[in-house]
Amino acid sequence: MILMLVFSSLLVLTIFFLVFIITDIKSYQRRKSSNMISLAQVVGTNSISTLQFHDDAAARQILFELQKVSPEIMHAAIYDENNQLFANFSRPGLDTLHVPASLKGKKQQYTKEGLFVRHEIIENNEVIGTVILESDLVELQQVKSSKYEIAATLLAVALVFSFILALTIQSYITRRLVYLANNMKELSDTGNYDKVIPDTGKDEISTMIKVFNELMQQVKENQRRKDEFIGIASHELKTPLTSVKGYMELLKGQELQQPYKQFIDKGLENVIKLEMLIRDLLDVSKIQSGQLELNMKEFSIDELLDEAISGISMISKTHEIIKENPTGDEIIKADRQRIEQVLINLLSNAIKYSPGGKKVIVQSSKTESELIIKIRDFGMGVPQDEQLNIFERFYRTKDQSVHISGFGLGLYISRDIIRRHNGKIWVEAEERGSGFYFSLPLNQPSSPQENGNNNQHQQNLSS
Ligand code: ADP
Repeated sequence: MILMLVFSSLLVLTIFFLVFIITDIKSYQRRKSSNMISLAQVVGTNSISTLQFHDDAAARQILFELQKVSPEIMHAAIYDENNQLFANFSRPGLDTLHVPASLKGKKQQYTKEGLFVRHEIIENNEVIGTVILESDLVELQQVKSSKYEIAATLLAVALVFSFILALTIQSYITRRLVYLANNMKELSDTGNYDKVIPDTGKDEISTMIKVFNELMQQVKENQRRKDEFIGIASHELKTPLTSVKGYMELLKGQELQQPYKQFIDKGLENVIKLEMLIRDLLDVSKIQSGQLELNMKEFSIDELLDEAISGISMISKTHEIIKENPTGDEIIKADRQRIEQVLINLLSNAIKYSPGGKKVIVQSSKTESELIIKIRDFGMGVPQDEQLNIFERFYRTKDQSVHISGFGLGLYISRDIIRRHNGKIWVEAEERGSGFYFSLPLNQPSSPQENGNNNQHQQNLSS
C-alpha cells in the first residue's frame, strides 16, 4: 500500500514537473530567438551603407563589435543580394559558419549546434542582403540543467513527504482494518452474534463495519429461528416416539416366538437411537436458550463410572472397557444424570471411532482441587488442527464424517455440561487413538450454575 501511494504521488509530481520544465524551456527559447532576431535586425540596419558602398571591412567591424554585446554568438555573417558572403565573423577557435538547409525561408531555427536566425536587409523595398547569426546553446543548457536540478531536489523532498504521508495513511487504514478483523475473529471464535462492533467513523471502513453489524443481526435472527424450530420439532417428535417406545417395550415383555422378538429388538434399538438424537437436539435448544438446568447432588463418581461402563457394555460387545486407577470412594457434587450423559457420550464415541480397536480405558485421578476422568481409545484419533473444533455445534472431523454416522452434537453438549460445572473438557492425541478428558472441581460451591444462573452463564460461554 505504501509503495502504491508513494508511486502514484511521484508519478503525478513527475508529470507535473515535466510539463512545467518543458513550458519554461519553450518560453526561454521563444525569448532567446526574439532577442536574436532583434539583434539581427540591428545588424541589418547598420550594414545597409556597408553593402551599398561594398565596404566589407566596415561590415566585418560591425560583426566584430556584435561579439562584445552578445558573447554567445558563435558565427555572424552578412550576405549580399546575390547571396554571396560579404562579411563574416566567427568566435576564435571555431569552424566557419554552416547554415542548415532547414533555415531556408525561416527566420529562426534551433539545431543541435545552436540557434540560427536570418534577417533580410531591405532598402527601398528591395532585398539587398541577409544577416545570419548563430548563437550557442550554453545558456539554454544551463537553464535546462538548473531546472532539472530543482525538479530532482523537489522530487526527492516529495518522495520523503509522500513516504511519511503514505506511512501515516497506511497505519491509519491498517489500524482500522485490524480493528475490524479482530472484532470479526472474536465474533467467530465466541459465536456471540449479540456483539455490535462499535464505530463512530465516517470512512469506507465504517461502512463495512455497519454492513457487518447488520449482517450479524440477520445471522442472529436466523439462528434464533432455527433454534426455535429445532426445539419445537424435537418436542413434537418426542411425544409420539415415547409412546411407540412404550408399546414396543410392552411387546418385548410378551412371550413371543423368536423371529418376532428379533424384529421388536431391532425396532426398539432404532427407536432408542431416535430418542437419543431427539434428546440431543432438545439439549442443544436448551443450551441455546440458556435453559439447560443442573440438578446438583452428591454422589460417588466410582459408582457412576461402573454404571455407565456396564450400560455401554450391554449395548456394545465389540470392545472391552477397562477401568483403571479408580479414585475409590470419591464423592462429588454434580448433576449425576448430566455427568452420566457426558460419560456415555465419550464412551460411545471411543467405541464408534475405533472400529478396529479392542479396548477402551477409563481412568480417574484427582488433584487437590479437581477430579479428572480420562477416556482413552485406540482408534483413528482426532487431527491436531481439529481438536478444538470438535467441541463446536454440528462439527464433525473432515475425514471421518462420511464413514461414521453422527450429528456432531454430543461433544458440544458435553462441553456445555462440564463448563456449567466449572470444569474443563479437552482431547489429547495418543500414540494411537486419543484421550478425552474432563475435570470437575472437587470443592464445588453450593450451587455453581444452578437454575437461576443459567442466563449469566450463557453469556460467559459466549464471551
Ligand atoms: P458425532 O459423534 O455424533 O459426530 P460428537 O460431537 O460426539 O458428534 O463428535 C464430534 C466429532 O468429533 C465426531 O464427528 C468425530 O469426528 C470426532 N470425535 C469424537 N470422538 C472421537 C474419538 N474418540 N476419536 C476420534 N474422533 C472423535
